[in-house]
Amino acid sequence: MVMPSANDVLSLDADQLVHVLQGFGEPAFRARQLFEWLWRHDASSYQDVTVWSRPLRERMSQAWPIRRAVAVQTQVGVDGTTKLLLGLSDGQRVETVLLPHPYGYSVCVSSQVGCAMGCTFCASGLNGRIRQLSAGELLEQVRYAEMILKPSGQHVRRVDVMGIGEPLDNYANLLKFMRMAHHEAAFHLSYRHFTVSTSGLVPAITQLANEGLPVTLAVSLHAPNDEVRRRLMPVNQAYPLAKLIPACDDFARRTGRRVTFEYLLLKDVNDSQQLAHELAGLLAGRLCHVNLIPWNPVAEHDWTPSPMSTVRTFQRIVQDQGISCTIRKELGQEIDAACGQLRLREEESLSL
Ligand code: SF4
Repeated sequence: MVMPSANDVLSLDADQLVHVLQGFGEPAFRARQLFEWLWRHDASSYQDVTVWSRPLRERMSQAWPIRRAVAVQTQVGVDGTTKLLLGLSDGQRVETVLLPHPYGYSVCVSSQVGCAMGCTFCASGLNGRIRQLSAGELLEQVRYAEMILKPSGQHVRRVDVMGIGEPLDNYANLLKFMRMAHHEAAFHLSYRHFTVSTSGLVPAITQLANEGLPVTLAVSLHAPNDEVRRRLMPVNQAYPLAKLIPACDDFARRTGRRVTFEYLLLKDVNDSQQLAHELAGLLAGRLCHVNLIPWNPVAEHDWTPSPMSTVRTFQRIVQDQGISCTIRKELGQEIDAACGQLRLREEESLSL
């Protein structure tokens, strides 16, 4: 059993908690109690775990302190979108967004502090990858969303691992997070209600398909050929479309889940009618869905968003080939909504 480093109790799964508590001579059911107190009852210290004796609480406080994230900033949009900037125990910051939908709420969580992938349209990767988020730090983002919803009696329905970072570059923690969030003593979320995004790390897509979990895979495609994609995404050098598309087909075949291809539209870069036809040709007959994303301008990059009329024409061409294709509704546009913007703004204001 690989235990988390630095006595990170929030990253212990239910089996690991049994192991820790047995080390203190405690029965296994104490582990279940603690798991519930951490993720269902928001215990911020062992003093909250009132079903335990004081000596046990004190021993655990010494050995496995609870280090919660703290909300540094909260922005609420007119449509109910809530954007959180969470402070982690080492002072790093991470963004989480709670989004209202007709079916309920989803939470978009970050998987890393910064990102190493260097996509040329994105604010998150500007300073590179600073560090991985632990499983506990991923869970903390869902717990904050749950805390916001608690007064209304609602719960998080979907988790999209689509915030800052490349989730498949933090594979072990991602998997552990999903398994812990799925646990009935934590958030009891169905695997079908997770979406994992990737810029296209082919070996990890295959590894995820091997897990046999019915999660949705969302692949940032953004171009129907290598020439255009290479300009936007350095990852295309290592994993060109000839490798990426078969890996997506394999994922869809083995999980029975259609793959979502994300396509950000940038004026005069990847939004022509010719490229729409090329995209339709690439994806025809595949178990997939295309999600067109109007680009949110980022001051640090000088691309221009495609006009809405161009986005609609692009959609119609793809749909006319029988491919499911939607345009992503932009929520919370007035609140630094592009991924990475809240954290960047805060860093800038700190450095003034
Ligand atoms: S788009 Fe995603 S993978 Fe690409 S740099 Fe931004 S956070 Fe990283």
